[in-house]
Amino acid sequence: MYLKSIEVQGFKSFANKIKFEFHNGITGIVGPNGSGKSNVADAVRWVLGEQSAKQLRGSNMQDVIFSGTEVRKPQSYAYVAITLDNSDRQLNVDYEEVTVSRRVYRSGESEYLLNGAACRLRDINELFYDTGIGKEGYSIIGQGQIDKILSGKPEDRRELFDEAAGIVKFKRRKVMTLKKLEDEQANLVRVSDILFELE
Ligand code: ATP
Repeated sequence: MYLKSIEVQGFKSFANKIKFEFHNGITGIVGPNGSGKSNVADAVRWVLGEQSAKQLRGSNMQDVIFSGTEVRKPQSYAYVAITLDNSDRQLNVDYEEVTVSRRVYRSGESEYLLNGAACRLRDINELFYDTGIGKEGYSIIGQGQIDKILSGKPEDRRELFDEAAGIVKFKRRKVMTLKKLEDEQANLVRVSDILFELE
């Protein structure tokens, strides 16, 4: 699996529709300070469901929408789509390519799409569990993040190892199953109360 392309429109400094195409191997993005290199990484974080404006170096979520310049009007929405090559089926869907896209309007209205079909953020999160790609993954290491990881709490570091070991999905399923068990236990208590009343 590898990142094949990133398409952006109205996202941060990218007012026009732009498509970055990547090939298997290493790609470097170079450019002067402030030219938008980090905005490319922000676009990937954002499309994968980043909900924190701070992580995207803004103060609110609408800050990702192109805010205009002296010669250009602001855009009304931000759009990002990333396409991953899935010929090795590392993502658990039967498609050669997987495209995840996200759009947000100034009104706050937003949508996620998986290969063109509307989906929930949860579907995207589940697709990327244990691949290192999700928004909690380690595939994007931001400036200062290494220091944060090294000086962070052991529990936070553990999460990174869990993701790399591929056990995050099992841990999440365990939490969900325990919750269901708890609900069933409460139901059982209710049933025995009713039975007791009827006897
Ligand atoms: P450096 O090398 O200094 O780290 P960089 O190439 O990584 O810089 P970025 O931080 O990606 O640059 O881009 C910063 C630029 O993006 C700034 O010029 C800023 O004005 C612009 N920018 C950020 N958000 C928006 C927005 N919503 N609308 C328009 N421009 C934006």
